[in-house]
Amino acid sequence: MSSLTNSPQNPSNAHLDLPPLPMDADGIAEGFSRYYAYTFGRDQDCQSAYYPYKALAMTLRDRLMERWNQTRRAYDDSKCKRTYYLSLEFLMGRALSNAMLNLNLNQAAEQGLYQLGRVLEEIASNEPDPGLGNGGLGRLAACFLDSCATLQLPVRGYGLRYEYGMFRQLIEKGAQIEEPDHWLRDGNPWEQERPEFTQRIQFYGRTESYKDHSGRLAIRWVDTHDVLAVPYDIPVPGYRNNTVNTLRLWKAAATDEFDLGEFNAGSYPESVAQKNDAEHITMVLYPNDASENGKELRLRQQFFLASASIKDVLRDWIRLHGRDFSQFAELNSFQLNDTHPAVSVAELMRQLIDEQHLEWDEAWAITSHTMAYTNHTLLPEALERWPVRLFQLLLPRILEIIYEINARFLDEVSQHWPGDTDRLRRMSLIEEGDDPQVRMAYLAIVGSYSINGVAALHSQLLVEGLFRDFHELWPHKFNNKTNGVTPRRWLAQCNPGLRGLLDETIGSDWVCNLDQLSRLAPHADDASFRERWHAIKRENKQRLADQVAEICRVDLPVDAMFDVQVKRIHEYKRQLLNILHVIHLYSRIKQGDTQDWTPRCVLFGGKAAPGYVMAKQIIKLINNVAKVVNKDPATEGLLRVAFIPDYRVSLMEVIAPGTDLSEQISTAGKEASGTGNMKFMMNGAVTIGTLDGANIEIREQVGEENFFLFGLTAAGVESLRNHYDPNGIIASDPTLRNVVTLLECGHFNQFEPGIFDAIIHSIRNPHDPWMTAADFASYVEAQEQAAATYRDRERWLRMSILNAASSGYFSSDRTIAEYNQDIWHLPTIQPSR
Ligand SMILES: *Cc1c(COP(=O)(O)O)cnc(C)c1O
Repeated sequence: MSSLTNSPQNPSNAHLDLPPLPMDADGIAEGFSRYYAYTFGRDQDCQSAYYPYKALAMTLRDRLMERWNQTRRAYDDSKCKRTYYLSLEFLMGRALSNAMLNLNLNQAAEQGLYQLGRVLEEIASNEPDPGLGNGGLGRLAACFLDSCATLQLPVRGYGLRYEYGMFRQLIEKGAQIEEPDHWLRDGNPWEQERPEFTQRIQFYGRTESYKDHSGRLAIRWVDTHDVLAVPYDIPVPGYRNNTVNTLRLWKAAATDEFDLGEFNAGSYPESVAQKNDAEHITMVLYPNDASENGKELRLRQQFFLASASIKDVLRDWIRLHGRDFSQFAELNSFQLNDTHPAVSVAELMRQLIDEQHLEWDEAWAITSHTMAYTNHTLLPEALERWPVRLFQLLLPRILEIIYEINARFLDEVSQHWPGDTDRLRRMSLIEEGDDPQVRMAYLAIVGSYSINGVAALHSQLLVEGLFRDFHELWPHKFNNKTNGVTPRRWLAQCNPGLRGLLDETIGSDWVCNLDQLSRLAPHADDASFRERWHAIKRENKQRLADQVAEICRVDLPVDAMFDVQVKRIHEYKRQLLNILHVIHLYSRIKQGDTQDWTPRCVLFGGKAAPGYVMAKQIIKLINNVAKVVNKDPATEGLLRVAFIPDYRVSLMEVIAPGTDLSEQISTAGKEASGTGNMKFMMNGAVTIGTLDGANIEIREQVGEENFFLFGLTAAGVESLRNHYDPNGIIASDPTLRNVVTLLECGHFNQFEPGIFDAIIHSIRNPHDPWMTAADFASYVEAQEQAAATYRDRERWLRMSILNAASSGYFSSDRTIAEYNQDIWHLPTIQPSR
C-alpha cells in the first residue's frame, strides 16, 4: 500500500487544464450518449432500465467531479479548521435528482434526454435508494451534510460502506418479512474508490511495554489481527455554489498476509477463507433503531470506523502541518453522532500516544478539546454499554486507555465532591457488577468539550435526569441544538408544485434562507392563493394515492383527509394509539354514528427491528384492521386504512407532500426530537401531537391555534407512573372500553386466535411505560377537532399555509449554523474556479 500513498510533492497533474464541461441540454445529451454507448456498450435494443440511469448518473458525476477537486484544493490551500462528522449511519436517499437540483441541471437534463427520446423522471426512478441508516439519526446526518455543503463549511462525513443496507420490508398475510437489500449489486456510480488512502486497523492481540528510541517507556499493541479499511468517497454537492464536500465510507478488506500457523499445518484453504471474517465487518447495517443488541460485530464496526477515520485525519494533518500537534485541537473537531462512534475518544488518545509519541497530558488536552458528542435518546435500552471482557479480548489497548481516563476522571470527581463514594460509583465509566460494563455515553461526555441534545425539551431532560451529575460538574459543556431538515430535498426537490408557487409568490431565496417562508403568511388570507395551495396539495395527494393503489391495492378518495403516521415502528411512538383511534372510527361507522363525518384515509408506514416482537405484532394489527375496514361496504367513502410497505427516503418524498394531518403522538418525554414532523410541516401538513421533542417548538412557531395538541406532558407522565390505572380508565371510558372489547373479542383476528393478546395486555398493564390508555380520550377529542376543522376547507387551508410559513426554523441550515457558531467555529470557504 505504501507505494500508492499520495506524495505531497506531485504537482505534475495537480492542475489539468481542462475546459469546464458544458451545462446545457446538448452537453448533457452528448455525455449521456457517450456513457451509454461507449462505457456501457448499450444501444437502442437494450431493454434494461438500469443503464440509462447509470449513464445519466455518470454524466452528472463528471460535472460534480470538477467542483469536488476544486473544493478539496480550496480547503487544503486555506489550511483552515475542519470538522469530521462521525456516524455509523448516513441515510442519504437517492443522489441523482439532488445533484440535478443543486447543479441547476434539471431543465437541461430534461431537454437533453427528450432530444434522445427519453423521459427524465422514468430514468431517475431506476436509482436504488441507498438505505445506510435506520431512521431519524441516519437521515439527520444526511441533512447535515447537505447543509454543510450549502453553507460552504469544511465538514467531511465518515461512515461505513455497508454491503447490505436496511432490509427491504415486505408484508405477507399482514406480517413483516425482511429481505436483504444488496444495493451495491449493480455498482454505485456515485462512489469513488480511493485505495491510496487505505488504512490498517488492529483488533485482538495484547499490549507490551518497550523503550522507544529516546529511552522513554512506551506501550505497543502487538500480535493483532489486522483488517484493511478502504475508503470510498461520495460527493455531497452544495446548492448552486460550486462546493462539493465529501462523505467517506470505509469498506473492510482482508490483508494479504495469511495465518502462518494454518499455512504450515497445510490448511491453505482455511487460511484463505479467514479473509472472509475481516470482510464481514462492513457486510451489514444493524437494523435496530433506538436500541442496542450488544453483538461483538457491532463493536468491531464501531472501532473500525473510529480508527480508520482518525488515522485518515492524522495522515491529512501530517501532510499539511507536519508532526507538530500543538495546533491540532484549534484546527480540528469531531462530532460524534450518538455514542456509536464514542470509542473514538480512546482511539484518538491511543494514536496520539502510541503512534505519534505524545505524552498523556498533551494527548488528553487535544482529545478533550476536539471531540463533541450529540445525544439522541433518553430511552434506557438505547444507552450503549459494552462488557469489559469484550473490550479486553477485542481492543485490549483501548481498554487500558479507558481505565486510565477513568482513574484520572474519578480523581477529579473526588476533588469536587470529597467523600461522595455514591457519586463516584454513579459517574464511573465502568459499571461494576458480575459482568462489568463500559458506559459509552459517559466516555463520550468525559472526552468531549460539547454535549448536546436535539430539541429544547430533550436537552433539558438530559441535564435534569440522565446526565445530571455531569451537568453539575461541567455545566458549560451542555447545550441544545434543535434538529432540522434540508429544504432542498424536503421541499424544493420533493414538491415541485409547491416550489413553483413559492418562487412565484416570495421569490426563490427561501431555498437557502427558509425564514423567507414567513412572507407567505399574509397570503393565507387571500382566497385565490388558498385555491392554488389547495390545487397543489390535491395533485400531491393524487400522486400519493396512485402509489398506494399500485403498492397496496387500496383506493383512496383524494378529497378525504390524508392522516399519516410514517416512522420506525416502536412502542414509544405509539402507532398503537393511532390504530385504536381507527378502530373507534370504524366502530362509529358500524353504529351509524356518521353525522358530519369527515372522510379519512389513515396511512401507516415503517419498519420494525427484526427482533422486536411487539413492534411486529403492531404491524400485524394495523394490517388486520385495514383488511376488515377496507372490505366492509359500510366504510366506502368514509374510511380507508393502508400500511405502505418498505418505508424509506424515496417514499417519504412522495408521502410528505401528500399529507394533510401529521401524526406525532409519542409518549411525552420519549421522542428526542423527531424530524419527520418537520418535513410534514414544511409541506403544509398540520400536526396532531403531544408536547414531546421538537413538537413543542413546532407549536411555538406556528401558534397553538394551528396545532392539534393532546395528551399528558412529560412531567405528567412521570408523576402518573406510580398510580397509573389503565383498567380503571378503560372501565370508565365507554369509547375506549368499546375499542378494547372489539380487540378482546377477536374481531380483527377471527381465524388467528390469541395473536393480539400481548398487545391487549400491554394496554391494560399498570406498568405500561408508554401509557397508551392515559392519552386515548384526549387523542380522540383532538382528532374530532382536526376532523371538524378539515370540513371547514378555508380554515384548514389557512392552517396548512401557516404551517409551511412557520417552518423556517426547522431548516437544517439553521441547525448547522448553530453547531458552527457554538461548537465548530469553522470559516466558510469558497472554491475558486
Ligand atoms: C425523516 C425520516 C425518519 C425520521 O422520522 P421520525 O418521524 O422523526 O421518526 C425516518 N425514516 C425516514 C426514511 C425519514 O425520511
